[in-house]
Amino acid sequence: MDLNKTVCALATPPGQGGIAVVRVSGPQAYAVTAQVFQPLHAEKRVQDARGYTALLGHYRLRGQEMDETIALFFRAPHSYTGEDVVELSVHGGDAMAEGLLEALYLAGCAPAGPGEFTRRAVLNGRMDLTQAEAVMEIIAASGRQGAALAKTALDGALAKTIAGIRSRLQTLSAHLTAWIDYPEEDVPELAPGELTAALGAAKAQLDALIDGYGAGAVLRRGVDCVLLGRPNVGKSTLLNLLAGFERAIVTPVAGTTRDVVEQAVQLGDIRLNLFDTAGVREVGPEGDAIEAEGIRRSWNKLDEAGLVLAVFEAGAPLSAEDRALAARCEGRPAIAILNKQDLQPGAAALAAQQEALRPYFRRLLPLTAKDPASLPVLAQAVAELLGAAQVDTGAAALCSARQLAAATAARDALAAAIDSQRQGLGPDAAGVCLADAQRALAELTGEDAGEATLDEVFSTFCVGK
Ligand code: GDP
Repeated sequence: MDLNKTVCALATPPGQGGIAVVRVSGPQAYAVTAQVFQPLHAEKRVQDARGYTALLGHYRLRGQEMDETIALFFRAPHSYTGEDVVELSVHGGDAMAEGLLEALYLAGCAPAGPGEFTRRAVLNGRMDLTQAEAVMEIIAASGRQGAALAKTALDGALAKTIAGIRSRLQTLSAHLTAWIDYPEEDVPELAPGELTAALGAAKAQLDALIDGYGAGAVLRRGVDCVLLGRPNVGKSTLLNLLAGFERAIVTPVAGTTRDVVEQAVQLGDIRLNLFDTAGVREVGPEGDAIEAEGIRRSWNKLDEAGLVLAVFEAGAPLSAEDRALAARCEGRPAIAILNKQDLQPGAAALAAQQEALRPYFRRLLPLTAKDPASLPVLAQAVAELLGAAQVDTGAAALCSARQLAAATAARDALAAAIDSQRQGLGPDAAGVCLADAQRALAELTGEDAGEATLDEVFSTFCVGK
């Protein structure tokens, strides 16, 4: 990326809206804007505008006065990108924003690539890569908890935690190097337990970050969820409860829900990406082909899903289909929903059913899908099962698969270092592993990240961010 170029892009979503904001960043941001933007008061000059000030005027395209425009000025390095930045607000809707972009291109501005403003912020040292990824996560977050988690990362909590670990490893590593390279210098030897204790403490911090990743990801991005059960247990009713309107066709006739339908619903702080599936039942070779295909897809989804809601009719004897479903849920993030509690199933039947299902599920949840009051109960159960209820949104957390991979590599290198000491291998062995861990952590924060890593991270960004 050429930081000498001045770039521009629409920073607000395309389409109709109150205002559209076009952002201009780079060394020529003021010069380019001066060619396009005419302040209302003729004595005002764009080039003289101080940072954090605004001017009212209009923009011109090919000599023609276009829309009323407000220009907001930021002077390097006190801007999002760390460069000179001008944000131009015009009326929302595509026409005026596109006209403004055209005028800026004609004035010599280049179109910004996906995530280019944030990438420039990283290259100019305004934020590290973990914070840049947090920007993306804030934009993508569907729930407030997820956004809060990303905001914590943007504020630098993860960057700070990683910096702390790195600095401690750096001290250890310096010590080991001195000891190995200058044996005659009388560098005090680390007590045998001291090195492993220090390594263990750093590893524990990384373990905590790695363990918390899944729950954080659920809060930020939601979870793929399947809803399964034999016909008539109330899956469609449950889906309607979740969706908040009559979306699935609820009918007392078995087998109307045939397709795997995707729909995103917000359940408390968690977005569920739902697959409403065909009723689970065994179909012989002579059975309904469409239904069989639906069932195959249901099973596949069950294996991939981050959350399985398996629905049963409370107190009803378990059918072969029920048992097949339960067995399939073993070891998975699955909740058994014992639906239709309002029909007041007998206590003995209910107890027997729970007994039979318990070994396969992490949670049994008596529910009445017909009753809207069931929603918060279900939300709480899901948040607890996925660990989302226990997430501290103010604490440092990993917020991308890339960060998780780097943290895991660093953790594994530390584990190898500890292992080498347990086996009585010399300090060199620990030193090599420590260097590996340091490299992985530098990759995590982006300090050591190559062009390819940056390309990969920013390819997921939208243009204008
Ligand atoms: P599906 O085949 O699993 O999708 O089941 P449906 O959602 O179509 O429900 C089948 C029947 O059970 C319908 O008549 C629903 O009204 C009824 N039903 C669903 N949930 C409840 C519930 O919580 N209580 C009662 N009493 N009936 C329910």
